[in-house]
Amino acid sequence: MTDQTKVTMYHMFQNSGDVFRASCLKTKILMTVIFGGLLIGSVILLSFSHNFNDQLLDATSNDQLLDAASNEELLVATINGSSRSETPHDKLLGGLLTAGFDEPTCVSRYYQSSLYRKPSPYKPSEYLVSKLRSYEKLHKRCGPGTEAYKEATKNLGHGDEKNYANKSVGECKYAVWVAVYGLGNRILTLTSVFLYALLTERVVLVDQSKDISDLFCEPFPGTSWLLPNDFPLMKKIDGYGRGYSRCYGTMLNNHAISVNSTPSHLYLDILHDSRDEDKMFFCPKDQTMIDKVPWLVFKTNVYFVPSLWFSPTLRPELMKLFPQKEAVFHHLARYLFHPTNQVWGMITRYYKAHLARADETLGIQVRVFSDQAGYLQHVMDQILSCTQREKLLPQVVAQEESKVNVSTNQKLKAVLVTSLDPEYADRLKNMFWEQPSSTGEIIEVYQPSGEKFQQTDKKIHDQKALAEMYLLSLTDKIVTSARSTFGYVAHSLGGLKPWLLYQPKGFTAPDPPCIRSTSIDPCHLTPPSHGCDADWGTYSGKVVPFVRECEDREHDGIKLFDEL
Ligand code: GDP
Repeated sequence: MTDQTKVTMYHMFQNSGDVFRASCLKTKILMTVIFGGLLIGSVILLSFSHNFNDQLLDATSNDQLLDAASNEELLVATINGSSRSETPHDKLLGGLLTAGFDEPTCVSRYYQSSLYRKPSPYKPSEYLVSKLRSYEKLHKRCGPGTEAYKEATKNLGHGDEKNYANKSVGECKYAVWVAVYGLGNRILTLTSVFLYALLTERVVLVDQSKDISDLFCEPFPGTSWLLPNDFPLMKKIDGYGRGYSRCYGTMLNNHAISVNSTPSHLYLDILHDSRDEDKMFFCPKDQTMIDKVPWLVFKTNVYFVPSLWFSPTLRPELMKLFPQKEAVFHHLARYLFHPTNQVWGMITRYYKAHLARADETLGIQVRVFSDQAGYLQHVMDQILSCTQREKLLPQVVAQEESKVNVSTNQKLKAVLVTSLDPEYADRLKNMFWEQPSSTGEIIEVYQPSGEKFQQTDKKIHDQKALAEMYLLSLTDKIVTSARSTFGYVAHSLGGLKPWLLYQPKGFTAPDPPCIRSTSIDPCHLTPPSHGCDADWGTYSGKVVPFVRECEDREHDGIKLFDEL
């Protein structure tokens, strides 16, 4: 086929609508069968050689990308049967994403991720879509390198706070996100700060001193979300804490802030152990003051979205943006987080090698919060008890009881285990190898990495963590560990209602071992416990009916639910 023919075919394929795309794909699959030997042979060869992805990563011209994209489609179609590939690809995810990015620099963004993920049952509202388009314009107008950014930073950090009100700061206001804690925490908090920026017409800028750009592509077109390294407060940000005079809670305690006297910047401390004063951030009266401050710097390790719904001023807008309340993170994460080509290569290689051929996939995320490092038997007992009780995995039986002989069509179930410790997956793998399953299903168990201990900010470690969260999000059903933000990201990104493993108390497996969540949204751990003004003293889980206690964290966590 000449290059010209390929390009013409690609344009035909792109422009002729979903029906044509679906039937075109079917024809392709038929053709593949008829003329099979040669084409399938070369496709399978590509999948085994692992060169395919490298070829994709190296693709610099559009021609190469088109070639790679159609090969990729055929490859996934061939190894997946038809399940994931026959649905027409909605590469813009119902309008969440904007067209026009350069595709080869971030192959996960459009076309490719829709090949691996089933279409989401959660559709973004038109209002959210239009709000995102307006945000993109705002970011382009105010982002790094613009006149507005120069104006806003001109007088920042000169210590001349008293006269600040008299100085021009320009039209733009900013929310700076600082990377703290593990990757799951970071993804949840960046999403929270972005939503806050969207609601309050601020521009979100991201601390790049850690490895964020090794993990994610730029999400906004024609601009950057990275906070420039010469940002005037850059050298001081690391040291910000509750002792800092511009910390919001501290300023409240010292009666140092009022509507008529606000500083050039504020540090917001929204961590698991923040004081009540810091959590006053969520109250409408405080928001009136905070709104006047051009620069907000956030250090947070909690998914604070549910608490934004307490505010009677923000709530109506939130209801318009998210008619399906539980889908906040699901939409915003698919909008913001596109793995870099390197991480995407890790995801797709692993997917093709281990998950693509399975009839069904199950993710099990094991996170142990215990001073005792290493494998714990009661955690293993809990995983088995949960997965067998909930019929996610079969029991194993004696060879004589095996159904292999009567079962003509044996189903293949791939189990993706993620954990710092490899032993949980090893034991599961051995169990299903040594004995047959009671249902006759073939159970294959895989664990991509076993890093032993957390090594946040080490590039390859964080890339593996991201790849694993993403792979988990591609599974059909998922079991996650209580209060783990790693697990929250995985199930919510995938639009999955998880089975949550209760946190063990002591060294025994809890009974019941797990609970099925009725919401896909993550839990806000350690939310404000005081309410605001009229609600003061009311437990926050009782302020609005659709913000309720998390199943895995009663009395100390709230989340968004649609079912009342
Ligand atoms: P949380 O501590 O469970 O809330 O999750 P975080 O992601 O915030 O922090 C835990 C960090 O430990 C991760 O970001 C990884 O660096 C590491 N980690 C924990 N569990 C796993 C795992 O299953 N796989 C990998 N690759 N890393 C993990």
